[in-house]
Amino acid sequence: MLAEFIYQQAFINGHWCDADDKTTFAVTNPANGEVIAEVSNLGEQETLAAIDAARKALPEWRQLTAKQRSQYLQLWYQLIIRHQEPLAELLSLEQGKPMAESRGEILYGASFIEWFAEEGKRTYGETIPSPLPGRRITTIKQPVGVVAAITPWNFPNAMITRKVAPALAAGCTVVLKPAPDTPLSALALAALAQQAGIPDGVFNVVTGTDAVAIGKALTQSPVVRKLSFTGSTHVGKLLMAQCAATVKKMSLELGGNAPFIVFDDADLDAAVTGAIAAKFRNSGQTCVCANRLLVQDSVYELFSQKLATAVAALQVGPAQEGDFQQGPLINAAAVTKVRSHIDNAKLHGAKVLTGGELHHRGGLFFQPTVLTEVTENMLIANEETFGPVAPIIRFQTEEQAISLANQTESGLAAYFYSRDIGRIYRVAEALECGMVGINEGIISNESAPFGGIKQSGMGREGSRYSIEDYMEVKYLCFGGL
Ligand code: ADP
Repeated sequence: MLAEFIYQQAFINGHWCDADDKTTFAVTNPANGEVIAEVSNLGEQETLAAIDAARKALPEWRQLTAKQRSQYLQLWYQLIIRHQEPLAELLSLEQGKPMAESRGEILYGASFIEWFAEEGKRTYGETIPSPLPGRRITTIKQPVGVVAAITPWNFPNAMITRKVAPALAAGCTVVLKPAPDTPLSALALAALAQQAGIPDGVFNVVTGTDAVAIGKALTQSPVVRKLSFTGSTHVGKLLMAQCAATVKKMSLELGGNAPFIVFDDADLDAAVTGAIAAKFRNSGQTCVCANRLLVQDSVYELFSQKLATAVAALQVGPAQEGDFQQGPLINAAAVTKVRSHIDNAKLHGAKVLTGGELHHRGGLFFQPTVLTEVTENMLIANEETFGPVAPIIRFQTEEQAISLANQTESGLAAYFYSRDIGRIYRVAEALECGMVGINEGIISNESAPFGGIKQSGMGREGSRYSIEDYMEVKYLCFGGL
């Protein structure tokens, strides 16, 4: 079953294609370093061909009724659901996350397709009362055109559907560049889109390791009217600058530095469960992962002990060998970053309550870790760790917690635990971020607007707000009435 879903060529204009120079790159299983596939390594020329395919497919696709596009998306959704298990296996194989998480991601990813299949039908215009006599004002919404999407490796399925589903529902066509670490889930999605009958050129996948060349082709092209990017803040800024020359619309979902605040009135056991979900999901490799745990002085010791006990119980191992809760990190650089954050914290006085070292399984496996006596000036409190390390910072007052939480250029997610309704409103409103989990550690779903403020980006994914990001409002002025 799984082998059926391993596609090793790029997908352009409904055809599986090699790189012009026939080169390939290896995709490996992070759990053991074994090569899973050799995928076509495309560059600038092939990217231009994909853009051209999307341009040619656009007129017919945008002319369809929203209901017709919805029917294609529904079929695509059903095919994904039908093949949930092999798609999840493939995802774990190339990305490393536990099977339970991969199964969840396939459902989560598919949920965007189902949601936007419906939402595409509701992209209403308006009738606006005219300030002048003899005129009528209406608005219509139209697709922006050809969309480029660049996605990361941490959610190889859902990061794609979250962009492609609203784009296609709105009537746009897409050129996708998935992360070179995890192109297989993207290609499997393309194969199912084709089975669903989505016409040639509507959804194209450009695989390759030369992100700079592919990125330049996508951003410099005047045909591409929008870029939707999820990835690091550094690359996001670069792409924003590159898009300036052609004034593209942009959606940017960049890095976070999410605070997870535990107040003295919190249900501590619920907070521990929430912290495990928010911090250790995908081994800490999500942009909404809690990056800093801020805990009020009077509950600091108790919460830290409870969390350390729960973290020490997390089972670590490869998805292919059992139901583990923690997989490997994505690559050696990720392990190095985690180590450097822990070393820096220890150097400045942090204590290791549990973990702190490479896991005995070796390779890219790291022990789930809890650090206490962490302070706000340590590296770990200021950079996104993207690994299984929970650093706990102590605070005294609500004001101090808010100030610490906001002491970052990022503004993606924040979480806090409290049972006091007054405090809940005060803190939720004061946090500088796009999303707040209140007594909840997992907040993403297809119906809610996911996105950040400050240097965490712009635009929203999921919800009715997201489809707007793939449409332009056109104002029609009727005169001489
Ligand atoms: P991460 O550190 O999580 O890998 P990146 O921002 O480097 O985050 O990568 C996210 C996506 O952006 C990947 O698909 C990657 O290949 C792509 N990417 C990286 N650098 C560039 C670039 N200069 N231009 C276009 N895409 C890029």
